[in-house]
Amino acid sequence: MRRMLFKSLVHGPLTEPSPVADDAALAELGAQVDRVARQRLGRTLSIRQVDAGSCNGCELEIHALNNVLYDLERFGLRFVASPRHADVLMVTGPVTMNMREALERTYHATPSPKWVIAVGDCARDGGVFSGSYACVGGVSAVLPVDLHLRGCPPSPIALLKGLLALLETVQFSGNASIDVGRTAGPSSAVSRRNKEPHRP
Ligand code: SF4
Repeated sequence: MRRMLFKSLVHGPLTEPSPVADDAALAELGAQVDRVARQRLGRTLSIRQVDAGSCNGCELEIHALNNVLYDLERFGLRFVASPRHADVLMVTGPVTMNMREALERTYHATPSPKWVIAVGDCARDGGVFSGSYACVGGVSAVLPVDLHLRGCPPSPIALLKGLLALLETVQFSGNASIDVGRTAGPSSAVSRRNKEPHRP
């Protein structure tokens, strides 16, 4: 016990260092997302998060967008409690059999124009849960996905960059989706995919 206490005093925390609270690059990125959202929508962007079966790792990063460091709402972007108020569905995890219908109903309850972001490697293609008897697969197996955001999990900055890439790339009548890598920049649309959902 004494050795453990000594170790905790000598060694620092094992977590990554937190970002600087007044990070200028972060502020610029957030302001850019808000500016493009206002150009495209004429107002700010509303996001509804849907956990379709994730391990909650992706949720922790999404929640971080609302903490005091990232504070997404200062840029006008906000998470809403109902899909009826949302422009964007941010979906995490592989889609489990149990969540398939709920996800479809959430999508249909969201007014058009609407965009779907598949957040994390599991949402992209099932990730580590790919092939499980309990999973349908990635989000695109159920819904038309506009943005695939890779990472396990993607960081809050990657989420912001993904939102910006989505707003800059997809038109309201959009017929293509984009795939953003873990370290990709805002305009790095690396592949185009069919908008129609794949049904196995
Ligand atoms: S991508 Fe990683 S963090 Fe996100 S749900 Fe899958 S295993 Fe969890």
